[in-house]
Amino acid sequence: MPDRAPQPVDRQLPTDEARDLISLVRDIAQREIAPSAAEEEDAGRFPREVFTLLSDSGLLGLPYDAEYGGGEQPYEVYLQVLEELAAARLTVGLGVSVHTLASYALAAYGTKEQQVEHLPAMLGGGLLGAYCLSEPASGSDAASLRTKAVRDGDDWVITGTKAWITHGGIADFYTVMARTGVEGPRGITAFLVPGDADGLSAAAPEKKMGLKGSPTAQVHLDGVRVPDARRLGEEGQGFAIALSALDSGRLGIAACAIGVAQAALDEAVSYAAERRQFGKPISDFQGLRFMLADMATQIEAGRALYLTAARLRDAGLPFAKQAAMAKLYCTDTAMRVTTDAVQVLGGYGYTADFPAERYMREAKVLQIVEGTNQIQRMVIARHLAGPEGR
Ligand SMILES: Cc1cc2nc3c(=O)[nH]c(=O)nc-3n(C[C@H](O)[C@H](O)[C@H](O)COP(=O)(O)OP(=O)(O)OC[C@H]3O[C@@H](n4cnc5c(N)ncnc54)[C@H](O)[C@@H]3O)c2cc1C
Repeated sequence: MPDRAPQPVDRQLPTDEARDLISLVRDIAQREIAPSAAEEEDAGRFPREVFTLLSDSGLLGLPYDAEYGGGEQPYEVYLQVLEELAAARLTVGLGVSVHTLASYALAAYGTKEQQVEHLPAMLGGGLLGAYCLSEPASGSDAASLRTKAVRDGDDWVITGTKAWITHGGIADFYTVMARTGVEGPRGITAFLVPGDADGLSAAAPEKKMGLKGSPTAQVHLDGVRVPDARRLGEEGQGFAIALSALDSGRLGIAACAIGVAQAALDEAVSYAAERRQFGKPISDFQGLRFMLADMATQIEAGRALYLTAARLRDAGLPFAKQAAMAKLYCTDTAMRVTTDAVQVLGGYGYTADFPAERYMREAKVLQIVEGTNQIQRMVIARHLAGPEGR
């Protein structure tokens, strides 16, 4: 059964331009993304042509400087765009979020020369990015990563294996964190590695519970040689860059989670109006009406929380604590709301004939990526109580 068009969301947008942007995205989402989402997710097909369309429409560099081909939109607008895309298909919303994350190191820490050379193609030239921090033995403890970059004249030679890489094997560029010095967070440096570099290869994509259209793969770097001109930031600054990228990236995941939750609520509301039991629509039963009311309330609360964090970021104020809270709350909300949506649909909710079960499988991964929700709680607690073991 085709996915239904989501109900319009009451959005607070700062400008007419932002309102037009959301209309454009909604139109693309409903015409080009949603109709094939269920079938393509089932088949595990990545919609590269959609990313080309988004790039051509100026939607792959929204929060970055117009000088380099970005859209110069505040985060509060960019995140609502992500939400609309994720509601149509998480593979697309999350893919745009990861691309934005992969572009961050260069946009925020690159030299002027590096930005002039590489950013326009990344932000509006059809390229697709990947962000390589995780490894097989270092996930939550990312600072223990082992991929090594060794200086050789004007070059660096990178060797190691990155794990769980979204767009692994299909990306045009990889932002890679590698060890160039001492153990721990201070010995890590960031590099911009081209997708066609000699020695870079990807394993077969992981077979996942959901988000099947988005390839997630190990990326092997076997003596990959990049010039020093592709080092991003200072030697030893890579972990700080990676964490700073994740503060913003987590807001992207929060927005995607609210998009998936909203799609599930829309499905539940529309099904409950049509399905009849005991001679009336099931939406007449208070047991279900209260469930729908709770689902909607949690979604609005999540949206308000990620927008608060975004507005702090847009104002140049610290936002890392609120970003972690938004990631935690919005992804837990998506898990609860999508589970309840399956319940509202009864037995039909448990079948692939309706999208509710897919939303539930997709919500799960959002509690894991870009720092599990346990790690978000650690980040929030550090802001409240200082570092552990002081
Ligand atoms: C679909 C998908 C896409 C991904 N895309 C990317 C990507 O593009 N780039 C990238 O770099 N990574 C990516 N990741 C990796 C992701 O960020 C990691 O899976 C995540 O950080 C957790 O690491 P781990 O899987 O090694 O789990 P572990 O770190 O081994 O954690 C296992 C469990 O232990 C818990 N845990 C660990 N430490 C603590 C602690 N101190 N206190 C309490 N609980 C703890 C965790 O919360 C978790 O429940 C992706 C993962 C998935 C599934």
